[in-house]
Amino acid sequence: MNLTLKIISALILGVVVGLTLNLTAPDVFTVLNTYLFVPIGQLFLSLISMLVVPLVFFSIILGAAGLGDPQKLGRIGLKTVVYFLATTCFAIIIGLLLSEIVQPGTAGDFDTEGAEFNAVEAPPVSETLMNIIPKNPISAMAEGNMLQIIVFAVFIGLALTALGEKTKGIFTLVEQGNDIMMYLVGLVMKFAPYGTFGLIATAIGSQGFSAIRAMGAYMLVVVAALIIHSVITYGGTVAFLAKKSPIWFFKNFVPAMTVAFSTSSSNATLPVSMDVAQKRLKVPEPISSFVQPLGATINMDGTAIMQGVATMFIAQAYGIDLTMGELVTVVLTALLASIGTAGVPGVGLIMLAMVLSSVNLPVEGIGLILGIDRVLDMARTAVNITGDAACAVYVAETEKNNNIKRQRAEI
Ligand code: ASP
Repeated sequence: MNLTLKIISALILGVVVGLTLNLTAPDVFTVLNTYLFVPIGQLFLSLISMLVVPLVFFSIILGAAGLGDPQKLGRIGLKTVVYFLATTCFAIIIGLLLSEIVQPGTAGDFDTEGAEFNAVEAPPVSETLMNIIPKNPISAMAEGNMLQIIVFAVFIGLALTALGEKTKGIFTLVEQGNDIMMYLVGLVMKFAPYGTFGLIATAIGSQGFSAIRAMGAYMLVVVAALIIHSVITYGGTVAFLAKKSPIWFFKNFVPAMTVAFSTSSSNATLPVSMDVAQKRLKVPEPISSFVQPLGATINMDGTAIMQGVATMFIAQAYGIDLTMGELVTVVLTALLASIGTAGVPGVGLIMLAMVLSSVNLPVEGIGLILGIDRVLDMARTAVNITGDAACAVYVAETEKNNNIKRQRAEI
């Protein structure tokens, strides 16, 4: 059986085992979860997370250097950022429209009086953007601050290009470092089916299903918006901008989506999504190395959809009407909030507080959706990283005549 099939089978098995134990033998679940599911899942998570910082560092240096000149980098950077912003706006609008049509917040009696949520003060997005230049690159790496690592690596890549022959030794070192990381990704992926099984069994087995039933309409709207966005926006990108078959795209990208689904973390999935984009979607390495780490950090369409739908849901549950002007504010703040969301589990919900406060909705409303967010986090993370890959495929197509080297072969 090939790896993709194994991972998908593991995912299905994880859902079945988690669900069965949750509904029929919760005590057995607790024991198995502690001694089997959690350890296997965490082991896999640590294995891929271990590769993220060095991989991003090496590959962005190579990406920036491989593009040859700063102008090319600027052009690709601009295309990437414009694509990210446009698709995220599109995602939020789909979420808002669908919630307006379905009205999930009126589909039940929600305990708005009892809802509680202690908003953790999220750093303002302006601060995150101001901080992108690391004062200390070593501490940026130690803290895993992706934006800062990206900026530092781009600088080094530019310097390597400018210094040329003189720094050939370091260039070779980075190139080999990158090869080592990519080799390790392949190795770690052999463990992916087991890790996926453990992570999914834990996530599904620990769910409170009564909460899910009560929140059915909200969850359906989020999932429907995620699917519509993936099919229309990413399918459209691949078909019309990259002139390739959307089926080819989704079929090849599935392993990365599955890992994102089980880890709920764009950052942790990064090694896998880059590997898949380079080997299976044939995105040249410098483009994938630049677009995908940046996307994993700032491009979160799935998160933006959840934030749009959640805002509408909370407004409806509290019986508050949003004006057209307020809806525009929601689009803008959800755009900023999704940019500011780190690619780790659950942060999208924390950033939602910022969207709610921008239109004076009660932040405690987050308490209503807190219980079921874990499941939605899985689905939206899969969408988040698919957007990055669609962008990489699109940029690769537009740059295909520009002699961008290093294409990875499928092993
Ligand atoms: N878990 C998401 C991600 O890593 C972020 C979020 O929406 O919480 O992409």
